[in-house]
Amino acid sequence: MVGVALVGAAWVTLYAILLQTTRNSPEASRFVGEVVYLVPIIVATALAVYAARHTRQRVGTAWRLLIVSNSLWLIGESTWAVFSYTSPDGAPVPSFADAAYLLSYAVALPAIVIGLGLGVLGRTQGLLDALLVAAGAAAIGWQTLISPLVPSAWNAPALVTFLYPVFSVSIVSILVAVLLSGSRHVPRSMIIVGTAFGLSAVTDGAYAYLTAIDRYQSSSWVNLGWQIEAVLLCVAAVVAARRAESDQPRALDPDLAFLPAVVAVLAVGGLAVADLVLVGRLSLVTLAVTMLLLLGLLVRQVVATRDRARLTQGLRTAAITDQLTGLYNRRFFKEMVDVEAERAVRHRLPLSLVLLDLDHFKDINDTYGHSVGDAVLTDVAQRLRREVRGSDLLCRYGGEEFVCLLPGTPAPAAYELAERLRQTLRGTPVTVAGMVDPVLLTASLGVATDEVGERGRVDTDALINEADQAVYRAKALGRDRVVGSGQPAPTAADPVTDLPPALVWMADRIDRALGDRECAAAVSRWAFRTASRLGLDEEAQRRTAAAARVHDIGRITGLATRQPDQPGGKVRAYDPDHPAQGARLLVELAARPDLAPLVAAHHERHDGTGYPYGLAGTDIPVEARIIAVCDAWAELCAADPQLPGVSRRPCRDELVRGRGTRFEPTVLDAFVALLDDGALDDPARLPEHPAAPPPTPVRAARDEQRTVPR
Ligand code: GH3
Ligand code: MG
Ligand code: MG
Repeated sequence: MVGVALVGAAWVTLYAILLQTTRNSPEASRFVGEVVYLVPIIVATALAVYAARHTRQRVGTAWRLLIVSNSLWLIGESTWAVFSYTSPDGAPVPSFADAAYLLSYAVALPAIVIGLGLGVLGRTQGLLDALLVAAGAAAIGWQTLISPLVPSAWNAPALVTFLYPVFSVSIVSILVAVLLSGSRHVPRSMIIVGTAFGLSAVTDGAYAYLTAIDRYQSSSWVNLGWQIEAVLLCVAAVVAARRAESDQPRALDPDLAFLPAVVAVLAVGGLAVADLVLVGRLSLVTLAVTMLLLLGLLVRQVVATRDRARLTQGLRTAAITDQLTGLYNRRFFKEMVDVEAERAVRHRLPLSLVLLDLDHFKDINDTYGHSVGDAVLTDVAQRLRREVRGSDLLCRYGGEEFVCLLPGTPAPAAYELAERLRQTLRGTPVTVAGMVDPVLLTASLGVATDEVGERGRVDTDALINEADQAVYRAKALGRDRVVGSGQPAPTAADPVTDLPPALVWMADRIDRALGDRECAAAVSRWAFRTASRLGLDEEAQRRTAAAARVHDIGRITGLATRQPDQPGGKVRAYDPDHPAQGARLLVELAARPDLAPLVAAHHERHDGTGYPYGLAGTDIPVEARIIAVCDAWAELCAADPQLPGVSRRPCRDELVRGRGTRFEPTVLDAFVALLDDGALDDPARLPEHPAAPPPTPVRAARDEQRTVPR
C-alpha cells in the first residue's frame, strides 16, 4: 500500500514537472494536459475492477459502482481530449463530456453512501446527527462554492456549470456527516474515495472560477487536483483489495454526540459572518439554515431523551427478569414479597406462597444435555404462567425452582393452585423441538400461608422458609406432590418402588380413566407406611409399595374393551379378571415376577370370599393383605368428596366394619393406627387433562440401579 502511495506521489510530481516544462510549447502542453492526463484515470478504472473482485458485501457493491463512475469519468475526459484536438474552441458547454462527468458524479454519490454504510445511521439519533452535520456542511458549501455560481440566467451551460459544485458539496457533506456523527469502523478505502471526491470538489470550484474569468487552459495547475483525485482512487482500490474489505461491526460513539451542535454553530456563525462582511445584513438563506438547524437540534434532543428513557426502562426490565424463562427473577420476588407483606398487613389479607421444585431435573440435563434442560425450563415457565392469575406473581426462584406469590389468597385456594400447577406439569410430557420422545416431568410443591390476623405483621423470611420445608417434605414423601406447611411430616421414609416410569405412567392413566383422584400413588404411600408399622423388613416394604403402585394395572384390558356408552364412572368398576391380568402384565411386560402374586391377590378377603382364587388368612401374602386395606380406603375416600384435613369418621367406621371378615385384623389395626395418627395424606385430585403420550422414562436406567431409599 505504501508502495502504491509512493508511486502515486511520484506520478503527481512527474506530472507537475511535465506541466511546468511544457508550458512554453502549446503542442507538448496539450499532450500533457489531455493525453498524459488520462493515464492515472485509466489505471484507477482498472484498479476499481481489481478492488471490486476482492471486496465483499457493501464495500463490494460500492466498488462495482465505482467501476462505472471511473469509466464514465474516463469517457468524459477522452471526449474532452478528442474535442481539444479536433475543434479549435475545444469542447462546447454543455457537451457529451459534461454528460459523462455529471453521470460519473451521480454514480459516485450512491457508491460512497453505500460504501460508508448508512446502516451506521440506522438509529434515529445517528441519522439525525448525520443530517444535522450534513446540513451544516452543505450550508457552508452553499455559501462558499455554490452560491457564487448560481447563474443569473438559467440555460444549459449555466445549469451544467452549476451542477458540478452541487454534486461535490453533496459528496463532501455526506462524508463529513458520516465521519463526524460518531460512526466508527467505516471502510478505509471509502474514506480515501471520499477524500478524492472532496479534492475534486475543490478542483471543480477552482475550474469554475477560472472558466468564469476565462483563464482556464489544458496545462492549468487545476489539472493537478484531478490527477491527485485519480491517484487517490488508485490507492483506495489497492487498499480495498489488499484488506479484502467487507462490512465491519459498526458503532456510534456517544462521546461525539456534541458534534452536530458544534457543526451547527459553526455553520450558522460562518454564514452570518459571510453575510455581514459581504452584504452587511443577514441573508434569507442564513436565516432559513439557522431555523432548520435549530429545529433539527430540538428534534435530536427529544429523540435522545426518549432513547435514554427507553434504555433506562430496558435496563430496569432486564434487572428484574430471568433471561432464560422471561419470568421475574428472585431479586424481584424478594422485593415484591415485602411489598405484598405490607399490603397484607394493611388490609388484613392472607398472603400465600407456592414454591415449586422440579423433580430429578439433573437427570434431564444428564440424559439430554443442558440445552434441552433449558428448553424444558422455558416450557415449564410458559405452562405455569398460563395457570396463575393476573394478580399472582410468578418468578424463577433458582435453577429449577419457581415461586408464586399469591396476595390475598387463603391456604385452601393456594393449595388448589399448587395442585393445578403440579397437574399441569405431570399431565403432558414436555415435547422438545428436534426430539422424538417427550420428556416426563414432575414437581414437588410446598405451600405456605400467613393469615396475618391480629398479629399485625408478616414474617416473609419465615413464610419462605415454611414453603421451603414443605417442598423438602414433598420430596421426602416421594416427590410429585403438594405439601402444605401445616401438614404433618411423614412418619415413614419415602417409598421407592423401582418401577419403570412407563409402568407408573400407565397406572396413573388407569386411575384417571376410572375416577378423579390419584389413588395408586396414594395406596402405594399408605401401603409402604403400613408395612413399616407392621415391622416388615425394608425389602418387603419396598415390594409392598411397588405392588400397590401398580395394583390396578390389569384393568387396562377391561378399559380397552369398554364400550363408549359405559364411561369409567366415579366408582371403581367390578372387574374380576383384573388381579390376574395385572399379574400377567407384570411378568410378561415388566419382568417383575416378584410383584405378580401380590397384585394377583389384592382382592382376596381374610374370610376366603374374595377373588380370583378365594384364598384366606395367611394364604394371602401379607403385602396383598396390606394393599387390600389401603385400596379399600382409597375407594372410600374417592366416594367421599371431602377436602383434605376434614374428618373422615364415616369412612373409617366403614373400614373397621370389615375387621376379621374382609381385612386381616393386625393389618387393619396398623392402618387405622396410622390413620388416627394423621400420618396418611389424602389422594390428590386430578383435574381434566387431554390424553398424553407415553413419556420417556428419563429415570428408568437410574431407578433400576437404585436399591436404597433416598
Ligand atoms: P430433586 O428432585 O431432588 O429436586 O432433584 P434435582 O435433580 O431436580 O435437583 P438438584 O438440586 O440435585 O439439581 C438441580 C439441577 O438443575 C442441577 C442443575 O444442573 C440444573 N439446573 C439449574 N439451573 C439450570 C439451568 O438454567 N438450565 C439447565 N439446563 N439446568 C439447570
Ligand atoms: Mg432444586
Ligand atoms: Mg429439583
